[in-house]
Amino acid sequence: ATPVSILAGTGRAAELGVLFRKGDALQNLSRVDLVAFDKTGTLTEGRPSVTAILPTRDCDADTLLTLAAGAETASEHPLARAILAEAKARGLTPAPVDRFEAVTGGGVTATLEGETLRVGSRAFLQQTGVAVPPTDPTPVTEVHVARGALYLGHLALSDAVKPDAARAIAALTARGTRVALLSGDAEGPVNALARDLAIPEAHARLSPADKRAQVAAWRAAGHRVAFVGDGLNDAAVLAEADVGIALGTGTDVAIEAGDVVLVSGAPTGVLTAIEVSRRTLRNIA
Ligand code: ADP
Ligand code: MG
Repeated sequence: ATPVSILAGTGRAAELGVLFRKGDALQNLSRVDLVAFDKTGTLTEGRPSVTAILPTRDCDADTLLTLAAGAETASEHPLARAILAEAKARGLTPAPVDRFEAVTGGGVTATLEGETLRVGSRAFLQQTGVAVPPTDPTPVTEVHVARGALYLGHLALSDAVKPDAARAIAALTARGTRVALLSGDAEGPVNALARDLAIPEAHARLSPADKRAQVAAWRAAGHRVAFVGDGLNDAAVLAEADVGIALGTGTDVAIEAGDVVLVSGAPTGVLTAIEVSRRTLRNIA
């Protein structure tokens, strides 16, 4: 590729809201045969809301929400913001906690009256020895709450799918690109989204390191992989991919790690980026 044709290609892409941040991204993208998407904030809006509050017999709905909101006060995670918004809407004051700690891809802990509050995924609570009773398979995200060793119940949250997500997946599939979903969320919501969007391959409950390892495995098997993500915890996998595609609506950390940035955050920007790259490389082939 000549410098002039690359410049013309990246210029055209920029007009369409696709920023190529690294010089070789245009060429690498033209050869991609597998596109893996993050779920939350990438294919979904990333603005979940609480749809149900399900305390055990040891708790009640207002207490459960008050405790969860207290533990989440200092978190910037979209699930935390949704929980705080719900507490506010119900006129509840978050429990006054201290010693807040966030565990990436798991949840948060905080201390209340000498006891540890744990708020997060089933796996996150189970790892610390809390017995989390089974729930029916569900397409919503569950946030579980424990105070000390006592399990208190869970909140259900759902997040709308972006309007152009299905179109982006269908178009990639139609052009012969393999599509996959990599998420830190549980099987229920991950498999439900994959089914809704006709994504043939989905991996749930992945830590940031697991996401990176999956992309490394695809690359070792000979695939050229693009990963599309928005989150703080997507930086490693964005860097691992042949082409990291970050959403302009995402975190600064993700944008810094991306080779390509989709300004509007719309998943169909991936198609625009691939089309520009292929057209540019074809013109000069
Ligand atoms: P994704 O890969 O879908 O972007 P994350 O890696 O951010 O998701 O989180 C994975 C899972 O960890 C979430 O689905 C949730 O169960 C749990 N989790 C992470 N952070 C929090 C938090 N602050 N509060 C509650 N749960 C959390
Ligand atoms: Mg995300």
